Amino acid sequence: SEPIHIIGGGLAGSEAAWQAAQTGAKVVLHEMRPVRATDAHQTDSLAELVCSNSFRSDDHEHNAVGLLHEEMRRCGSLIMQAADKHKLPAGGALAVDRHAFSAEVTRAIENHPNITMSREEVPGMPPAEWGNVIIATGPLTSPAMAEAILAKTGEDALAFFDAIAPIVHYDSINMDIVWAQSRYDKAGPGGTGADYLNCPMDKDQYFAFVEALKVAPLHEFKDWEKVPYFDGCLPIEVMAERGVETLRHGPMKPVGLTNPRDPLVKSYAIVQLRQDNALGTLWNMVGFQTKMRYGIQAEIFRMIPGLENAQFARLGGLHRNTFLNSPKVLGPDLKLKADPRIRFAGQVTGVEGYVESAAVGLITGRLAAAEARGETMATPPVTTALGALVAHITGGHIESESYSGARSFQPMNVNFGLFPEVSITKPEGAARWRGNDKVMAKRKAITTRALEDLKSWA
Ligand code: FAD
Repeated sequence: SEPIHIIGGGLAGSEAAWQAAQTGAKVVLHEMRPVRATDAHQTDSLAELVCSNSFRSDDHEHNAVGLLHEEMRRCGSLIMQAADKHKLPAGGALAVDRHAFSAEVTRAIENHPNITMSREEVPGMPPAEWGNVIIATGPLTSPAMAEAILAKTGEDALAFFDAIAPIVHYDSINMDIVWAQSRYDKAGPGGTGADYLNCPMDKDQYFAFVEALKVAPLHEFKDWEKVPYFDGCLPIEVMAERGVETLRHGPMKPVGLTNPRDPLVKSYAIVQLRQDNALGTLWNMVGFQTKMRYGIQAEIFRMIPGLENAQFARLGGLHRNTFLNSPKVLGPDLKLKADPRIRFAGQVTGVEGYVESAAVGLITGRLAAAEARGETMATPPVTTALGALVAHITGGHIESESYSGARSFQPMNVNFGLFPEVSITKPEGAARWRGNDKVMAKRKAITTRALEDLKSWA
């Protein structure tokens, strides 16, 4: 039978190829690297992690992305298998050795008997003879493909900018000032409770730092000056602009951390670094994405106590993010209404994040494989994290009315707000039911329901 053509071997495309191939379908995976580069990828490996090495929380009972991890594991996800195999200590989060992770995915795909790799750019809409196609070209979709999509959909494809955080060499960090501790000593799976490096600031240091951020020269924007930012990825200088205390309540919050050299003095603000490779030689500055000019970045970050001699393996920077107005242009089965041979997957559909991108790949891989067998397959129930994501991008449930008209579609991480309501009752015998207990009980109810409802689809 005709193969499924998957364009883009990133997080979504690799997972889609794996899922389809595992059911027996033949797949051709087209990846343009190394023939053609993107602004962010640095290797020719599949599923390269272009920025952070974290898949975020792995708590599948109380966290939406943790639940998504678990659902994907139960669906035989390649991305989750590789992540679990190459995880690094990171408190309650699932962080991975980026090179070992991508090498693992690449090996699995290249060795799969049902998958053929084609290292080439697909520079436009797929040729007419391809009957079953998944486009998973990501936030950095090649310009030729982006233009073709635009022409095909007749919609304004949205483009905006995100910023990425710097990475520091461990041996340039001053460990006489910095200490290792996870917030609230939270150990998490495989963690020690001391997985982050902490740089303390007193009030004067903090105010001077915020001032420096506010006057730092930025990368030139040309026509894109009024680009809207995704709120989860605000550059630190934009946060500094919003108010002097903003950073201290965001990435620099000092709570749950005690400086062992001065346990009685509370730090006014704390900068955290998270391990970025298995060797522990590289550490990234948590939440420190920035669009400041390179020269000034290094200078300003060396104002941070403990980083006065920091050497940077990579500085922060800007990137493009291309995504479709999916609720309008995609059908409920993730097919392009204007050309139903084609499904879309990954960040280009308007999900945000490595895990979410791979999750949409997982779903489309299965849908395409079912179609190749002459079957129709439903998308996952909306009560699951997988289904909640599909509903977000296709405008399929809960908020369906608000998708038309004024509201603009924005990429989103998976979160509990995307799930249908669940009713919970106060546990018998409980005298009081405090706010946080109730929130946790609700989350637990949602995640329990999700894993139950996933069974038949998985
Ligand atoms: P990708 O992983 O980018 O894969 C798309 C693939 O398609 C690439 O390999 C590309 O080379 C290939 N391709 C593109 N066009 C063509 C073509 N025409 N023909 C053939 N191949 C093509 N998410 C997080 O969770 N954490 C982060 O820290 C994070 N940081 C990010 C930083 C940057 C700079 C960017 C751009 C995104 C970041 N994201 C982050 C968002 C997102 O989760 C990742 O980009 C993720 O990799 C998206 O997965 P994807 O499969 O959709 O795209």
